[in-house]
Amino acid sequence: MSPPPLASAPIALPGCADAPVLRERGQREVFCGLTGIVWLHRKIQDAFFLVVGSRTCAHLLQSAAGVMIFAEPRFGTAIIEERDLAGMADCNEELDRVVDRLLERRPEIKLLFLVGSCPSEVIKLDLSRAAQRLSVKHAGTTKILNYSGSGIETTFAEGEDACLAALVPDLPATETANLLIVGALPDIVEDQFRRLFTELGIEAVDCLPARRAGEMPAMGPNTRYLLAQPFLGETARALEDRGATRIDALFPFGAEGTTAWLHAAATAFGIDELHFRRTVAAPRERAKRALEPLRERLYGKSVFFLPDSQLEVPLARFLATELGMIPVEVGTPYLHRRHLARELALLPSGTVISEGQDVDRQLDRVRAAKPDLTVCGLGLANPLEGEGLATKWAIELVFSPIHGFEQAGDLAELFARPLRRRDVLRL
Ligand code: SF4
Repeated sequence: MSPPPLASAPIALPGCADAPVLRERGQREVFCGLTGIVWLHRKIQDAFFLVVGSRTCAHLLQSAAGVMIFAEPRFGTAIIEERDLAGMADCNEELDRVVDRLLERRPEIKLLFLVGSCPSEVIKLDLSRAAQRLSVKHAGTTKILNYSGSGIETTFAEGEDACLAALVPDLPATETANLLIVGALPDIVEDQFRRLFTELGIEAVDCLPARRAGEMPAMGPNTRYLLAQPFLGETARALEDRGATRIDALFPFGAEGTTAWLHAAATAFGIDELHFRRTVAAPRERAKRALEPLRERLYGKSVFFLPDSQLEVPLARFLATELGMIPVEVGTPYLHRRHLARELALLPSGTVISEGQDVDRQLDRVRAAKPDLTVCGLGLANPLEGEGLATKWAIELVFSPIHGFEQAGDLAELFARPLRRRDVLRL
């Protein structure tokens, strides 16, 4: 199927704003929230993530992040072995000893996260009390916070949500009006957005998380925040508890998504419409030009999202409205209806929206639909490829720079590549 010219491409679709949601509550096949450490430790450069967990947690982290080489690692695992209740006091002492040793050896660590996990010994430990106790002990040198990355409570992108939510109560207070971009973005993407906001005339722009512990943004009742990631429900709640207001927007994926995201902020800050259009015209045009050849490739192709990171709904919207793909089913581990309302309204009506996971039933639906492309976790990709279905690893979408105008072409390319590979293999 060849696509209509971009200018006449349909953008207004009947939508899935009120579509029923298929709720699945079966077996899950996703990483736990510890995975977030892999990108968070790169973002906050003087933080350390100490997982309080088992050998399994240590192995997960090592295999997920093992390819990264640092002079000194910025995450580690305090292994808590099985023990009876009487041994719990030792657990706390042991944790204190590990933290003391770490901070003595690594005085450059300014922010230490104690990250909870699933083993029952860890669940019995009160990590928030441990963080308070240790914060007092190390006051003036290192701030100590805690959050849970446990697979019982979090799927993998929710680890970032839990981490950022843990930062919010400690952010300095201000009455100044500022714009807060919320969500860990690669530095290069963050810099691009900052430049655009400056050109638009929005001066007081801060990012959560900041790149260094001592530079975390101030916030208060005059803070308006813009989510850069769709999986930050708890963080949003914590920000609103402190009086901040969310700017409702599409997420900044693709030329249109990024324009809408910036436009929502510009409107909230009273930026003149003509000035807005002039400012975004060139990068928006570049993004559209980058998408054109990929649209040729992807137009009319069907795509099935298995639940993984919560990026699924905005990405399906991008693929449908900007590239003409047909989303068959869009599965997400958790559907935040309020944050995703604009995205859902732009999905073609008839798209199945599912929340949660029941992997066998979902795989049956994939096999019945035979989509051109299935976006799924690592564990499901190989079997589906073996059955002749083209797949895209969802995790790549979390690890790659995909936000903003300059990354729009690369984002579309991530979906086009598996289809090209399939065509080559068929030759
Ligand atoms: S937190 Fe739980 S799910 Fe994650 S690696 Fe540790 S034991 Fe496994």
